[in-house]
Parts: sequence; structure tokens; C-alpha cells
Amino acid sequence: MSSIYRILCLSHDPAITADAEYSRPEPAIAAIGSGIDGHADCDLLIGRYSYPLIEVGCPPNTGAQRTGQHRCYPHSVTEWVDVAWLRILAAVYRIGDEQTAMLAVESSLNHSALRHWSRERLRRLRDELGIDANEPADQSGEAS
Ligand SMILES: [Zn+2]
Ligand SMILES: [Zn+2]
Repeated sequence: MSSIYRILCLSHDPAITADAEYSRPEPAIAAIGSGIDGHADCDLLIGRYSYPLIEVGCPPNTGAQRTGQHRCYPHSVTEWVDVAWLRILAAVYRIGDEQTAMLAVESSLNHSALRHWSRERLRRLRDELGIDANEPADQSGEAS
């Protein structure tokens, strides 16, 4: 099963994919490190597609264009997570608050990979993940 790798820009809402396709992750990581035209200040991730999206990598925060732009926390290698985990985490965010979600992350087997995933990043990736990650529906009934 062959995969292709595409760069995802999460500075758009919802996220968009850059035009270039790569057959291996390394050139995509290198491209992010050296800066991508039109996305110099963007939050960029790498999607591994075997159509559909199957895995997402958070690249290192190194490289001239990336220094000081820690969207998650500083790390020196690309950390990958299966989209199944992202869907689970999105579901946790939907039913709980940020603290509940972080508890779930810390107790999961995949907590080191999930640390990159804020509610906002997941929300922006909703179309790629095929989830409805909008805020929970208005739970009205409260008197105003
Ligand atoms: Zn961008
Ligand atoms: Zn990260």
C-alpha cells in the first residue's frame, strides 16, 4: 500500500493542503524546515494519505522559518499519530473541557503523540478527519 505525503496548513480554517505531493516524508519535512512560499508564518503539519488521510505528523520546530514558532511544544523529530487517535481525541474534546481532554491524553498509550493536538488544531483539521469538531451544540435551557 503506497502512501503520499502532503503538507497541511492549519493557519487556514478549515485546514488546506499544499499542492506538492511527496512519496516519502523526509522531503516534506525538509520543505517545511526551509520554508514554503505563501506559508512562512503558518502552522504546518504533514499528512500521510493512502486516500483517505491515515496519519498526521507534527514536524520539528527547527529551521530558519520555524524558530520560535512553537505551535505545540519544542521537539526535534517529526511525531506521527494515527488519525484514529485524533478522532478519539476530538470526541473527548467534544464531551469535555480542555482539562478532561488532557487527562485522556496523559492516560492514553499514545500520549506523547497526542500532546501536539490542541482543540484548535483538531477543529481546523475536521474536514480532513471527516469529523464534526465544532463546539458542542448550544445546551440551552439556562435562563438568561
Ligand atoms: Zn498557510
Ligand atoms: Zn508538535
